[in-house]
Amino acid sequence: MMKASADTSVDTSTTKTAREASADISVDTSTTKTARELFTDYMVAHKCRKTPERYAILEEIYAEQKHLTVKTIHDNLREKKYRVSVAALYNTMQLLMDAGLVLKHNFNGEEAQYERVYGYELHEHLICRQCGKVEELVEPKISKVVKNACRVKGFREESRLFYVYGMCARCQKKKNRINILKQIKKIKTHGKS
Ligand SMILES: [Zn+2]
Ligand SMILES: [Zn+2]
Repeated sequence: MMKASADTSVDTSTTKTAREASADISVDTSTTKTARELFTDYMVAHKCRKTPERYAILEEIYAEQKHLTVKTIHDNLREKKYRVSVAALYNTMQLLMDAGLVLKHNFNGEEAQYERVYGYELHEHLICRQCGKVEELVEPKISKVVKNACRVKGFREESRLFYVYGMCARCQKKKNRINILKQIKKIKTHGKS
């Protein structure tokens, strides 16, 4: 595969490949189309340039059902032959957040992660402090409680950041195994003395 960084000249055939590449992202097209329209409306209202790169960033985020770092988005776009600088990418991410289409997370105080908002069910996040794994939790009962509370206060909910910090099942198992091994070692040493 040809690397986008290999040449600096603007090549129309490369641009075409990039456009074609964006067409075969498998997504729920109805949601993406509406998110696209909302993004267009926002950019028109705020006099922002509607570039193919900006739409490609939107599509990249809406194609993924997980949390993405700016680095991953940048790498994916490069693979699809889009030339977007990191600064331009951050700029568009800010636009998408301002437009209410993308949500930014900072799960572990490390690299920020982004996810789509529009047409995507509000959910909770279970974050393991040990391995950093983030699991999504869709619990209708929580949603019901929050929705009711918002209704009582006359508040219109747009997004929700609900984090539960702790230890995942795998890390707990691992920790238990280590503890058992430590105990066995202790018994053995005591037995010798
Ligand atoms: Zn874990
Ligand atoms: Zn999420």
